[in-house]
Amino acid sequence: GSTPTPVATVSQYACKRRTTTQNNNKIFTDAFEVLAESYEFNEIEGRCLAFRRAASVLKSLPWAVQRLEATQDLPCLGGHTKAVIQEILQYGRSFEVEKILSNERYQTLKLFTSVFGVGVKTAEKWYRRGLRSFRDILAEPSIHLTRMQQFGFLHYGDISRAVSEAEARALGNIIDEAVRAITPDAVLALTGGFRRGKEFGHDVDYLLTTPELGKEEALLLSVIDRLKHQSILLYCDYQASTLDMDQLPCRRFEAMDHFAKCFLILRLEAGQVEGDLQRVEGDSRSWRAVRVDLVSPPIDHYAFALLGWSGSRQFERDLRRFARLERKMLLDNHALYDLTKKEFLEAKTEKDIFAHLGLEYIEPWQRNA
Ligand code: ATP
Ligand code: MN
Ligand code: MN
Repeated sequence: GSTPTPVATVSQYACKRRTTTQNNNKIFTDAFEVLAESYEFNEIEGRCLAFRRAASVLKSLPWAVQRLEATQDLPCLGGHTKAVIQEILQYGRSFEVEKILSNERYQTLKLFTSVFGVGVKTAEKWYRRGLRSFRDILAEPSIHLTRMQQFGFLHYGDISRAVSEAEARALGNIIDEAVRAITPDAVLALTGGFRRGKEFGHDVDYLLTTPELGKEEALLLSVIDRLKHQSILLYCDYQASTLDMDQLPCRRFEAMDHFAKCFLILRLEAGQVEGDLQRVEGDSRSWRAVRVDLVSPPIDHYAFALLGWSGSRQFERDLRRFARLERKMLLDNHALYDLTKKEFLEAKTEKDIFAHLGLEYIEPWQRNA
């Protein structure tokens, strides 16, 4: 007799899927992301997450969806997502998505939240006050901009433009040089999208620490100071560490972590970049502004911080959800806590964390969920 061919089932958890940067279903996932964002703007969290999950499932497929029947055995696709897929298969576009894209409120919130330091809450407040453009905001005397927002507007053209791999590498050299000059045996690691092999990003993310526990915060401050003296620090929002291990198991495991960190805008010279800067046509300046995040976890939290800052956001969400629902464990950027054994599980590497969770190791370039 014939044995049925085993069909690989796709997991509902992004941390059990391998998702490279090659997206075979971009036409669908772009549509889902517009819908997710629109629900986020309207604070309908459940639906927002549903579309983000659906997009993530389609991103993991090594094949393109060509018929609705092909999605039959896939997880996280409900009636609404399938209707959108069907619309796109039939007409090449989704009318629901087009309606959102032409909606004034959506367009305005999208524009406002594209400014560094402006979240959905602020964008919405400005929209409700009748403001529709940057000019409206900057001309409104009663609006108080935070320092971050002021610099967001000041460097808007540069930091809303994608950062290339070559630019990320050039920044890596600058930061590496600064770190080595201060502490030769410091640990510096690229995280975020560029660690996952993305060609472009909205910023460059680094983890920075010292082999000696407790010296990491001073290192970060020294690096900032050095960048300042080199006149390449255009903006710095420094946040001191608020880490307190004593409160850990009781405290809610959270998205925001407690490590010392800084959100920077750095000045990158064209001469430092192999090739050239990403620039708009006609721009002849010799430099551009780039957003950089530096995070300094103590060395004993390094593996958790690296895993947490490597993303993607959806991959992180599902790691935590998987840990909680399938393993009765709490995972965040600091630690992994086993609720059954009532103890913290130590980890030196990301592999240790996957092993504790009983998950196959997923390489960073397979975490583009
Ligand atoms: P992009 O190319 O758009 O920068 P990215 O994946 O690098 O993509 P980031 O916003 O830079 O996105 O975030 C990288 C990772 O760091 C995310 O997975 C997120 O979970 C984590 N992260 C970002 N900001 C914080 C924060 N303030 N606290 C804790 N974790 C954060
Ligand atoms: Mn990033
Ligand atoms: Mn970042």
